[in-house]
Amino acid sequence: MTNDNALAAGFGLQQKIRLTTFLVFDTAWRIGSGKEGETMSDLGVVLDPISQPVLPGSSLKGKLRSTCETLSHALGLRACMLNYEASGVKCTSDVNYYHNVRGTYQEAFQKGLRDRLQWIEENTCDVCKLFGSPMQASRLCISDGMLKEWASVVQVRDGVVIDRDSQTAVNGLKYDYEVIPSGSRFEICIDLENPTDQDMALLGAALFEWHSGSSIGGFTSRGLGRFRLENIQLAGVNMSDSEQRMKFLTATKTEDRLSDLGDWETYFTGHIKRQLSPATEIEEN
Ligand SMILES: [Zn+2]
Repeated sequence: MTNDNALAAGFGLQQKIRLTTFLVFDTAWRIGSGKEGETMSDLGVVLDPISQPVLPGSSLKGKLRSTCETLSHALGLRACMLNYEASGVKCTSDVNYYHNVRGTYQEAFQKGLRDRLQWIEENTCDVCKLFGSPMQASRLCISDGMLKEWASVVQVRDGVVIDRDSQTAVNGLKYDYEVIPSGSRFEICIDLENPTDQDMALLGAALFEWHSGSSIGGFTSRGLGRFRLENIQLAGVNMSDSEQRMKFLTATKTEDRLSDLGDWETYFTGHIKRQLSPATEIEEN
């Protein structure tokens, strides 16, 4: 591709991956509402209009992002942690870094699309390429959890205020907080559009971690929020595959548009292996 039009043509949908899975809580959990609970507890949980627990996509995406940040180093990928000074990784998601390099972006912008894309490539870390940055929309979208099963009751637990210096309970200062009991089950859906090999390796490694068990929400240091994934299903479309493309363009039902991509473990293990084998080794053979 030699001109900006050809580059721009590459922006359409080329590949899409969809994961559907069940997220199951093995312990009680809480995603705080930031206000009093319906039970008059001090710290409420987020409930929908019919008083059922909500697992927001934004919470899931935040957790997925931090899982990817933690695993990025092991995959040989860069994570800015939203802080250039601390991580040493150049990325426009750090407000101060962006402020300092904004002038060079304007220059690249004036030169044309190729320079602009090159600039974004050089000034965005691998995690922000997947999850989005001020310069680039996220390639990953994660749904709110669809509630499939729960205990149909919100529990209230007692807490005491701990003095940070002495690490002992402050006399007379008690509070209570709401939790959703263990055993809650949600269906979640993760969509990835036009992923790079690095995106696939990051997401794959995060899925293995979530499948084996992770935690989400508040008070995880007190053992709340332990979850794991069950029954991960993988589907997608690659427009360079004529059969998959035809199916995507002509299927009359949403669930028929994407093709089954087989076993998720095999699929993502392949991507992680490729990420870990240096390109030079492959080229030299
Ligand atoms: Zn970043």
